[in-house]
Amino acid sequence: MTQRSVPAHVVVVGSGLAGYGVLRELRRLSPEARLTLVTLDDGHFYSKPALSTALSKGKAADTLVTTSGEKMAAQLRLDLRSGRAAEAIDAQGQVLLTTGGPISYDGLVLALGALPIQPTLEGDAVHRLVSVNHLDDYRLFREHLADGARVLILGAGLVGTEFANDLSANGYRPTVVDPLAHPLAQLIPSEAGETVRTALADAGVDWRLGRKVVAVDHAGAGFRATLDDGSAVEANAVLSAIGLRPHVDIAVEAGLEVGRGVKVDATGRTSDPRIYAIGDCAEYQRGVAAYVTPIMAAARAIAPSVLGQPTDIRFPPLSVQVKTTACPVVLLPAPSGAAGAWSKTEEGPKGSKYLFRSEQGEVLGYVLTGELCEERVSMDRSLVQATTKGMAA
Ligand SMILES: Cc1cc2nc3c(=O)[nH]c(=O)nc-3n(C[C@H](O)[C@H](O)[C@H](O)COP(=O)(O)OP(=O)(O)OC[C@H]3O[C@@H](n4cnc5c(N)ncnc54)[C@H](O)[C@@H]3O)c2cc1C
Repeated sequence: MTQRSVPAHVVVVGSGLAGYGVLRELRRLSPEARLTLVTLDDGHFYSKPALSTALSKGKAADTLVTTSGEKMAAQLRLDLRSGRAAEAIDAQGQVLLTTGGPISYDGLVLALGALPIQPTLEGDAVHRLVSVNHLDDYRLFREHLADGARVLILGAGLVGTEFANDLSANGYRPTVVDPLAHPLAQLIPSEAGETVRTALADAGVDWRLGRKVVAVDHAGAGFRATLDDGSAVEANAVLSAIGLRPHVDIAVEAGLEVGRGVKVDATGRTSDPRIYAIGDCAEYQRGVAAYVTPIMAAARAIAPSVLGQPTDIRFPPLSVQVKTTACPVVLLPAPSGAAGAWSKTEEGPKGSKYLFRSEQGEVLGYVLTGELCEERVSMDRSLVQATTKGMAA
């Protein structure tokens, strides 16, 4: 058997939490591996969830960066190819084609993130909508934000609701439009959504729920949005937070198996044995999971897997803290398509608790509000114990 004489060369595409998560694990496991990072941006490290609380924390785009790309490259001993786009994969030849030339790999990790879904709207200012899924988008958004500005937000999901909270808490005037009846409607039961709506309305958020924006036009120095009931909303900036779609184009072209995201097996490996996917671009066996906790779990398994030690990803309960200070919420979404129902199991001055139970009575999701959010750790622990017991039975 021929012995490998040169260290493995792992190429990671993308410098978000997923790309750096896996690079940190790779370097921890293998001091000798050759690690190359190809990224469209400058490779600066920042925590994306901080974008929707930056105003409250007194941060701007530049001060959200905790470590520069150069420092990350030095710390992790990376060959950093910043400002380069991965354009195609020659899977047969194990070569990544980039705007800076081809790069051969032993293992390739796709950490390409997701792309904002563009709303289909009429109007002469549609191109002026800002989506905040990247530090540079956030910089653009803040550049145009005068004190007290009116901001129209499209979408009352996690990102739209958190931005509404951050803006209203800092003297701005957000209006949120969403076709669904309450905020976070795809994640939490309607009564909990109503609690969030009321708390943020009291903090100054103007909700236009059950409505759609149909057009955005220039109006003076700002914008006028027309809603589907004919009403209008004037704003100085328009933020689109209607959702993301996993970035899969390169994977599709390379012939990898793709569903909603780049499909991976239990170890994070795609349909090509040398290529892995992680983060917002990936579709794990349990589905797309565009949050931080699954990234950390996947990074811990993908790093040994790509270095030749296949390791299954062990997902903890994927609960999420919604960073709405006006109404703290922790939620564990029920698996999509799961049969079952929400019920309120606790209500009091400290907040409320809701459980999503399957038809067999198994707890599959939960929502905590107010001070009851402190129960997150014990809720997650009890869910792990229930799953372990179920597997042993
Ligand atoms: C405002 C906001 C708040 C959030 N809050 C929370 C929260 O509280 N809790 C939570 O769990 N999750 C939260 N999330 C989700 C979480 O932040 C994301 O799931 C996570 O950051 C995704 O990381 P990623 O590395 O997969 O993708 P990204 O951060 O999008 O990184 C993708 C990388 O790929 C690069 N790239 C893309 N295409 C190419 C190409 N062709 N060639 C080279 N490079 C390329 C990009 O430049 C980028 O570096 C939030 C998201 C947002 C937007």
